[in-house]
Amino acid sequence: MKFIYLCRMYVKPKKSLGQHFLKDEKIARRIVDSLILPSEEQQAGVKTRVLEIGPGTGVLTKFLIEDKRVDLYAAEIDNESIEFLKINYPSLGEKLLEGDVLRMNLKAVFPEEFHVIGNFPYNISSQIFFKVLDNKENVPQVVCMIQKEVAERLASPPGKKAYGILSVLLQAWYDIEYLFTVDENSFTPPPKVKSAVIRITRNSRTALECDESLFKAVIKTSFNQRRKAIRNSIKQLLEGRPAPDSYLFGQRPEQLSVEEFIELTRLIYNK
Ligand code: SAH
Repeated sequence: MKFIYLCRMYVKPKKSLGQHFLKDEKIARRIVDSLILPSEEQQAGVKTRVLEIGPGTGVLTKFLIEDKRVDLYAAEIDNESIEFLKINYPSLGEKLLEGDVLRMNLKAVFPEEFHVIGNFPYNISSQIFFKVLDNKENVPQVVCMIQKEVAERLASPPGKKAYGILSVLLQAWYDIEYLFTVDENSFTPPPKVKSAVIRITRNSRTALECDESLFKAVIKTSFNQRRKAIRNSIKQLLEGRPAPDSYLFGQRPEQLSVEEFIELTRLIYNK
């Protein structure tokens, strides 16, 4: 009897896995409701695939699994949480993907479109966004809870201190909406920082109109020395040639929009 109680109710939170379990069901409901899905009529019998990253003890899973529009997958690394989910959500079956989501071949699991949701482990949230970018053709929408500070960075427009590498890379392909802030006391154990829920939705861009790997290199190289004028920080990318004649090279990276980074990349490419 006691053993069953333990299985059903308790997973010890592990710091190393970024485990802070959301205990407020109203917030859980609000997060799940933030995922914009077609109505059942619009779906015409085909459910929408949704991947939950880090279900833990299933506070979001519970609402997702009862939504008739959702074909739910869940990726979890923690064995104890996996056992808990198997007992409490047996209908997940083989769609409970066991292991490190960062090492999963999502292109093989999802040959077609899938949406992403989760209260992300904060220690790997940036890496999850890079993974989303790797799969951007197939990921139309992400709703997630992350550290408030990271959420502000991702959603930041150019010209602000918070604007950084991941802001530009994500904003090139996604619209980012800061939805709401969540207090640390809504979790067990409470994290040291405030949290925020964001929704990111694929924009209409189909191609970058510049060399994509150079675009990434320009962004990373310039933000590595974010206080310097771009002319000085990207010297190595110009391979000894003088910077082309454009106001862009006199700017600092945090001043440039996605469009301006694209233009800058084209100028450097043509040299
Ligand atoms: N969704 C739950 C848990 C959030 S805590 C809730 O809101 O209460 C973050 C979750 O991500 C934990 O369950 C943790 O075990 C899981 N996790 C951490 N690193 C992971 C990884 N690399 N791959 C998959 N899941 C991971």
